[in-house]
Amino acid sequence: MGKIYVVGLGPGDKEHMSPAATAAILKSNVIIGYKTYIDLIEELVKDKEILSSGMRKEIDRCETALSYAEEGKVVSLISSGDPGVYGMAGAMLEVVHKKESTVEVEIVPGITAANAAASSIGAPLMHDYTVISLSDLLTDWELIKKRIHCAGEGDFIVALYNPKSMGRQTHIEVAREILLKYKSKDTPVGIVRNAKRQGESAVLTTLDKMLDENIDMLTTVIIGNSNSFIENNKMITPRGYNV
Ligand code: SAH
Repeated sequence: MGKIYVVGLGPGDKEHMSPAATAAILKSNVIIGYKTYIDLIEELVKDKEILSSGMRKEIDRCETALSYAEEGKVVSLISSGDPGVYGMAGAMLEVVHKKESTVEVEIVPGITAANAAASSIGAPLMHDYTVISLSDLLTDWELIKKRIHCAGEGDFIVALYNPKSMGRQTHIEVAREILLKYKSKDTPVGIVRNAKRQGESAVLTTLDKMLDENIDMLTTVIIGNSNSFIENNKMITPRGYNV
């Protein structure tokens, strides 16, 4: 019987990928994942069988991983960031469960986009925070809006994933409007594109002005809580110490 690793590559740069992730990939015969992610680890996978495919084939990829593992192969299924955060880990475990397979699945964690982005702008996630994906491909938009309301009401720091795509331009506008019901217009906002990988850019702004900035699918938006502030070009949410 083979084995499946579900591997988080982290945000993109090799330096931010864990040694455990590298080891899992090196131990594997077969590497499966979205092409952009496989390109990030090109030099590790030269002698491996590589199955890359476009987006939205997640379940196919999990089923392929399982059939290889059942043939005795060691397979790495690749996600960016952490595989358990909007990644492949859940779907892989669900497929194994559904097929009543006994193949071993090991989840190898990675640095998720929110943590990578936070580190590039200071320390905005020092208190209770929530991650909300604005993608309504798999989640009802009404539920996403409800969660944004709850995050606002709870004075959570909010990290937004999938903030804007070609087909989904206005969700970020609605998210901002909802949060303005609970948060001041001067609330600090950090917008980080390509965190911890080539081409990184980071901007600090406010909830009032955030829509003036370039926001796309490669961006994580971090909106502070009522105590967050910006100083010396760093966004800080106090932990509560008397500094
Ligand atoms: N499993 C991934 C999440 C994928 S959701 C993880 O744990 O990071 C995809 C969203 O994550 C993107 O739309 C973007 O909002 C965010 N993202 C992923 N990588 C990023 C990076 N390097 N910089 C900024 N945002 C990133």
